[in-house]
Amino acid sequence: MEALAAGSASGDLVQDALEAIRKHLGMEVAYLSEFVDGRSVFRRVDAPGLEHLIKPGDSQSLEDVYCNHILEGRLPELIPNTAKEPLARAMPITDAVPIGSHVSIPIRLADGTPYGMFCCLSPAPNETLNDRDLQTMKMFADLAARHVSEEQAAKTAKQRTAERIRRAIDTQAFRIAYQPIWNLNPLRPVGMEALCRFDENSGQTPDIWFREADEAGLGAELEMAVIRKALESLPSLPEDVYLSVNASPGMVAGDTFAGMLESLPLKRVVLEITEHARVEDYRALDRVLAPLRASGLRVAVDDAGAGYASLQHIVQLRPNLIKLDMTLTRDIDKDRARRSLAAALIFFAAETGTRIVAEGIETEGELNSLMALGVASGQGYLLGRPVPLADAIELCAKRTDRQAQG
Ligand code: C2E
Ligand code: MG
Ligand code: MG
Repeated sequence: MEALAAGSASGDLVQDALEAIRKHLGMEVAYLSEFVDGRSVFRRVDAPGLEHLIKPGDSQSLEDVYCNHILEGRLPELIPNTAKEPLARAMPITDAVPIGSHVSIPIRLADGTPYGMFCCLSPAPNETLNDRDLQTMKMFADLAARHVSEEQAAKTAKQRTAERIRRAIDTQAFRIAYQPIWNLNPLRPVGMEALCRFDENSGQTPDIWFREADEAGLGAELEMAVIRKALESLPSLPEDVYLSVNASPGMVAGDTFAGMLESLPLKRVVLEITEHARVEDYRALDRVLAPLRASGLRVAVDDAGAGYASLQHIVQLRPNLIKLDMTLTRDIDKDRARRSLAAALIFFAAETGTRIVAEGIETEGELNSLMALGVASGQGYLLGRPVPLADAIELCAKRTDRQAQG
């Protein structure tokens, strides 16, 4: 069992299993194959020195190989000497490879469907191969089968997610909710954040939708579709209220983003950029943003003070607005540490001519504390929840009237 213990640990469980069992059995070739459209496709191969003969991606017709015969019981899983198996001897592949000894275990997925074979072979017969070897081989095959099942399940789940997102984009299966953003002192509406709403039955918040879209390679497309829809509301908003849309740096740096904003009154648009993943290339982002900013577009760093938006991100982006993450707003009236961090960002904002927008204001205490700290503007359930456009416009109008009367 020495060879079993001394695995080379490629980091790939199946690959390691193939190497260990091949060495243990003293054979030349080990592979895991998958059945695809009547062919046996090698997915992982361990055959040192024979890479020119067999490598991942190569395939053989199922008509020519042992697989179906083993699956249907015409050939045994363990063949110490192919010359003693009439069916194996009669098959051209036995001489062509050549195959002297052969051990092969069918791999099935968790639901029982055949996936492929876990196989070791050698050009030479090996009469010492016995039932214990077959049992050891089965243990390794079982390990590989479980791994493959998990891989397949993850792949299927990913495909389903991608299809769901594709459908959401193609059928515009989302709505936009608008949350007013207020100048705090005096209280008056200055902006409106567009927040996407998906099928409530999905039970997923929009950030999860966007993350999954990203993983499916559809992130930019979904974000663009949402922004395009949100921008349609611009003519309905009061003249002095800007529209704030959320965007990821990757989407902004893409080829098609700038084109979408062409011919819009960019002075009334704020782009909220969240750093969900580290931004690799600020220059690429800047190249896209510079002309748009020159036309009046303002840039906000979203979620500042949360894990995502690092100080480096803020310095690099040189935003017009910094949105204080709601984890900083929460209980700010009761928590000195949060107040200190907010005060530092407010100082930074004053020094750099940036406006602070506090997110997630839920209580009078939080609002008063933020105003005392000199925060210019804010949003939150206390001042107005995200609601359909008409309701958000009505809310802004009411508050404005009350201010005017008061
Ligand atoms: P965000 O851009 O930081 O949005 C603020 C989130 O806080 C929103 O959650 C909003 O509904 C919620 N919120 C507002 N006021 C309060 C409050 O007083 N208390 C509490 N507890 N929450 C409040 P939502 O809509 O679930 O969005 C979550 C995140 O999903 C957003 O964070 C943003 O990162 C992403 N997202 C939402 N819509 C879009 C979109 O259209 N495009 C992109 N790229 N991302 C979006
Ligand atoms: Mg936002
Ligand atoms: Mg935020």
